[in-house]
Formats: sequence, C-alpha cells, structure tokens
Amino acid sequence: MNELNFRAPKGTRDILWPDSERHQRLVDIFSAVVGEAGYTQVITPMFEHIEVFQRLGDATDVVRKEMYDFQDKGGRHLALRPEQTASVVRAFAEHRPNIPWKAWYTGPNFRYERAQKGRFRQFSQVGVEALGTEDPYLDVEVMALAWRFYERLGLSQIKLEVNSLGNKDDRVHFMDALSQHFEKYLKDLSEESQKTLEVNPLRVLDSNREQDSDLIASAPSMIDFLSEDAKKHFSLVQEGLDALDIPFIVNSKLVRGLDYYVRTAFEFVAESFDAAQNAVGGGGRYDGLAEDLGGPPTPGVGFAIGSDRTLLACEAEGVFQTLEPVTEVFVVDTTGGLAALSLTDQLRSAGFKTDRAWDNRSMKAQMKAADKSGALIAVIVGEEELATDTVTLRDLRESTDQIEIEKEIIIETLRKRLR
Ligand code: AMP
Repeated sequence: MNELNFRAPKGTRDILWPDSERHQRLVDIFSAVVGEAGYTQVITPMFEHIEVFQRLGDATDVVRKEMYDFQDKGGRHLALRPEQTASVVRAFAEHRPNIPWKAWYTGPNFRYERAQKGRFRQFSQVGVEALGTEDPYLDVEVMALAWRFYERLGLSQIKLEVNSLGNKDDRVHFMDALSQHFEKYLKDLSEESQKTLEVNPLRVLDSNREQDSDLIASAPSMIDFLSEDAKKHFSLVQEGLDALDIPFIVNSKLVRGLDYYVRTAFEFVAESFDAAQNAVGGGGRYDGLAEDLGGPPTPGVGFAIGSDRTLLACEAEGVFQTLEPVTEVFVVDTTGGLAALSLTDQLRSAGFKTDRAWDNRSMKAQMKAADKSGALIAVIVGEEELATDTVTLRDLRESTDQIEIEKEIIIETLRKRLR
C-alpha cells in the first residue's frame, strides 16, 4: 500500500455528517421505541472467545467462513463478533438476570464478506433479545417493536415474512426429508449447495443461486413437518400479528442464516430496493441457545436490524432525510474575537447551537461564514456594541431585519425568536 494514500480497509467506510447524524438518530429512535416496552440496554464486548460464536452452528457461513478470528498476545483464540445474539445470550448465562430479561443493543459487527452496496465487512445493528418465556405473544411483541421502529422512521415499504422452523425434533424429520429430496437430484444442485448439503440441508434453502431455484421450489415444506405444539405456537403468533394489524406473509422457505432458530423465524425485506441486499432485519426464537452457552435452559426470542441497510431503505423511500440545523446562532465579532469567545460560551450553556468565525476576519467575510453555517440568527459585536454593552441581532433568513439590544437580555430574546 502506498503510505501517502491511506484508505479505510475494504468493506469498511468512514461515516461523516450528515450520514453520521442519521446513524445516531436511528439509534436514538430505536432506544425510544424499545425503551417504551421495558427493554434495557446491554453493552457486550466486541470480541469473544471464538467458541461463543461457534455455538451458532458450524454450517453457517458467518461462522465457517466470515469470522475475523485471531490469537491475542496471551494465546487466546478470539473473534470479533459477527452478530450480537451470541454475546448477549452469553452475558445472560454469565450474569443470570431476572427473567423475563428484555435487553436491547447497538453497535458494529464484523464479517469477512464480499463487499458491495449494502454489504460491508463492518456494519452496524440495533436489536433486542427477550429471554425467559415461550409465550408466542412475546414473539409478536418483538416483531411489533421492529415494525413500529420502521414506521417511526417513516418507512412504509417493508414486508414482514414469517415462518416456523418447528421444534428440534420436527427439524430433524424435515432435514431428513430435505436431504432425501436434494440427494435424489444431487447432480442438478450447484457445487456450493452440494457442499452445504453435507453440513446442513436446511441451509441449501438459503441459496440464491439460479441453478438451485427449481429444486428449492419443489423441496418439501417445513409446514408439513410441524408438531401439534409448534403448529399451535405458530398460529398464535399469526393471530397476534393480525390483532396488531401488522401485515405479514408466511414464507415456508425462510430459514435464516443461523442454525439456532426454532419455531418462529422472521425477516423484514425492503421492497424499495431490489438489490440482493434487501433484507433489512430478521430474527427468531432460539430456545436452546442459553443452555448451549452454559446458562440454565431458557427460551428466548429476538431480532437484529441492519442500520446501514435500513438507512439505504430510508434513502430509497425518501424518508428520514431532514436534519436538525447544526448551527442556530452565529456570533460575528469584529473587535478581536474575545467577545465572540465569551458570547459563544454563554449561548452554548443556555442551550443554543452556537458557532463563530475565526482569524479576526472582516465583517463581510464573517457574515458570509454565518450564512454558510446555516444559522438562523447572527449576533454581531462591533466596536460600538462593545462600548455600549449591546449586541446586534440579524435575522439570516430575512436579512433586512436587524435590531440592537442590551447584551443582558440576549438569551431571553433569542429564546423568543428561536423556540
Ligand atoms: P443476520 O444476522 O445475518 O440475520 O443480519 C441481520 C441484519 O443485519 C440483516 O437483515 C442486514 O440488514 C444486516 N446485515 C447482515 N450482514 C450485513 C453486512 N455484511 N453488511 C450490512 N448489513 C448486514
């Protein structure tokens, strides 16, 4: 690499304003939505012992091929988190909080994937995990939270797909049937899927290779393998979604990328873009995971929403784009800059977004900077104002409007004008 030409590593990117502001506001809105439902934030480490993630299942690409794993200086085999459910459930198993435990999280994840639009090697998620009950209406609560979150961003072209993956035993029977089906036509399957079949036939359903599509379409359907118990659970989930007027479709081929899901699995798809990367979120029930990670047997359900992709969906729909002004008040000081220094400090303490010009430039240059800043009002201090303890306020939207006021009443005057 040319040392004079450093760039962010492949698959990563710098997020500058205004995108950074949207990322932050997305998290703020998420935390408000889930906070209203009693979810509290959990912050887990960005890396774990690799075994924590290996519990997610060896057949998943995320674990098999995409993990950033490394040995630390103490010889520990660690991995950057490719997702956060495993970390959150590991934290649950370690700390054993009271159940039901309803937690939310945000932060970056790392996957060594083929980088492209909407697919990054470092990407951010917001999500929830709810542990401690098998109640199907908790599955509904969790899906509803994601739905309400999308609504609050202003998104209207999101599709919810749900499926049931059955209980563990149902899955075994289904996987046998799938294996038989795919093995019968093995030669027609893509080479990749032939390999996947050896590790986990379920995952073949996840292939989006053209060559596999017919065989996937004619494959047995999970719905026919559900036990009475799983069927009941699934029908209550659907009833709950109906009761909340949340539209959904049942997609019997939906399996999700990770092996640990049982019963409910769901995905949110952005219909506003047709890229291969239109899954904006997904989740499901993972009743065996807590136990697998050394905790007491505890059912759980949750989802993760990709922040980057959700923001792409917002862009495609033209929503969530307006920004708060960065600067409300701009101080122009032609007396040397000390007045600006103390005035900005005072106005910032009073809660106004305040900026100023630098380098003691001319009145004209400072007014230009004020306009460029997007501020609504300029507070001007010249020699005359300095001598009489006054300031001049100029409305930057209607540039004719200008008044001189006592410096003492500046805060109340600005409050009246701006709030
Ligand atoms: P997953 O854990 O794979 O189900 O991911 C949950 C959500 O995270 C997906 O629906 C995507 O929105 C997002 N996501 C997953 N992988 C990536 C990636 N490499 N780049 C950007 N977003 C991703």
